[in-house]
Amino acid sequence: MTDLQIPAPDWRILLVDDEPTQRLIMARLLKRAGYEVETASNGKEALQKIEAGDFHLMITDWEMPEMDGIALCSALRSSQTKGYVYTILLTARDAIEHVVTGLQSGADDYLTKPVIEPELIARLSTGKRIVTLERSLRHANEENRRLSITDPLTGAYNRRYLMEQLPREIERAARYERQLSVIMCDVDHFKKINDTHGHLAGDDVLRWFVTHLQKGVRACDWVARYGGEEFVIVLPETTVANAGTAAEHLRREVSVGQFNSGALQFDVTASFGVSGWRAIVPPGATLDALMTKCDAGVYASKAAGRNRVTVEGMD
Ligand code: GH3
Ligand code: MG
Ligand code: MG
Ligand code: MG
Repeated sequence: MTDLQIPAPDWRILLVDDEPTQRLIMARLLKRAGYEVETASNGKEALQKIEAGDFHLMITDWEMPEMDGIALCSALRSSQTKGYVYTILLTARDAIEHVVTGLQSGADDYLTKPVIEPELIARLSTGKRIVTLERSLRHANEENRRLSITDPLTGAYNRRYLMEQLPREIERAARYERQLSVIMCDVDHFKKINDTHGHLAGDDVLRWFVTHLQKGVRACDWVARYGGEEFVIVLPETTVANAGTAAEHLRREVSVGQFNSGALQFDVTASFGVSGWRAIVPPGATLDALMTKCDAGVYASKAAGRNRVTVEGMD
């Protein structure tokens, strides 16, 4: 997606000042200039509003009770806001050391009272440019991250994500004494499907298969493409016995529901290998041990005639 497709926001501005009259005059001015305005009367209140709302810009006074504008700027810059909030300090203090202190605290710009309307509007336009830039960069980063962990054919997570995330899940489960299991599965005689119906039909079968897997597990379970026609499902908070039951459910769903696309209609089956821990994940549990056991399970299911589930738990 290009940045052109991000809709221009309704520019929301938070106006922070302890003087009610100043707030009133400024709010009127800003609304006239097309901004959506909310107000706060000190730094503390401003931080709460920023956390709760989606602000792009902030104009803040320096001297205020409870939390002043300098403390507010510092707190804002060290907190994790959803998007960048471009901040202008607007104060009666006009000495150069004040300007330096203000900018060093995290303000993006510094203006002195009484404010000159066209100058304020021009400086806010600079803020809008910065915020627009930050939004499109963040959007591009999120999109890149999504693409880098997604299998383009099926939409499942890819192997990179699996190898990055599963060790973390194991570690987390071991540390917090939680349960964890994994289902590995491999489509049976997939080469024959490709040979008989063509590679594109094979692709459709993979998409169909993943849809079945995703539909058949809980929202917190996640599916990754491990290799060509081999997939892994990670089941947090699940004993190996329950993962075995889940795999058996998936196996049945796949084998009963015929693949159906246009003129093509045929049965698809898969072989499953399930492993995980019978109770909580112990300290020192490894990805290697888990994957080896799942692999062996798939192999055993194939050897025993395919379209079946093999479970082997660990303590
Ligand atoms: P088994 O029951 O023992 O698993 O047999 P199989 O035929 O499923 O296994 P094999 O490993 O022999 O063949 C897997 C095939 O999957 C070979 C490969 O060309 C095909 N394949 C891998 N990735 C894709 C893909 O993205 N799309 C399609 N259509 N085929 C793929
Ligand atoms: Mg004040
Ligand atoms: Mg196969
Ligand atoms: Mg295979």
